Amino acid sequence: MANREGEHPVHFDELYRELILDHYRSPRNQGDLAKATAAAEGMNPSCGDELRLGIRIADDIVEDVRFVGQGCSISQASSSMMTEQIRGRSLDAVGAIADKIQQMLTVDGFDVDADAVDIGDLEALQGVARFPVRVKCALLAWKVLAQALAEATDREVADDTEIQTRVIQPAKR
Ligand code: ZN
Repeated sequence: MANREGEHPVHFDELYRELILDHYRSPRNQGDLAKATAAAEGMNPSCGDELRLGIRIADDIVEDVRFVGQGCSISQASSSMMTEQIRGRSLDAVGAIADKIQQMLTVDGFDVDADAVDIGDLEALQGVARFPVRVKCALLAWKVLAQALAEATDREVADDTEIQTRVIQPAKR
């Protein structure tokens, strides 16, 4: 893993770097989710990042969400921060957060503060937009989330040729 990080070093502001490493070392909401209503997994072949996500939705609210993953610090921090930010929110609010993250990660110079949607610690990932090769690391969590939400709400999800995701059986207990 150290080698992979070394190939494409990403230099963040110190505060953001600390936040990313904190989520990487102490991931929030890790593990398989009991009584998940949908689950999905995905991988980012360009870096080897993997993620499995379980989500429980009731009355259009994300009641709970947990993940199991491995890979680089950006992929794991993005997953950890995501679970913190979407738990307890409505599906509409989660959609707004996901849209903002997508823009933040892919539009260099996107003004995070200009948007009213609160993304919490995820702001730490804004610098990733300057490193296109790492964007997929940060996006993996959001692609897997989109897949799980599509399954939970009976919607189609657009195919992504680079980040592969699929629906899996939710954990039974
Ligand atoms: Zn990665």
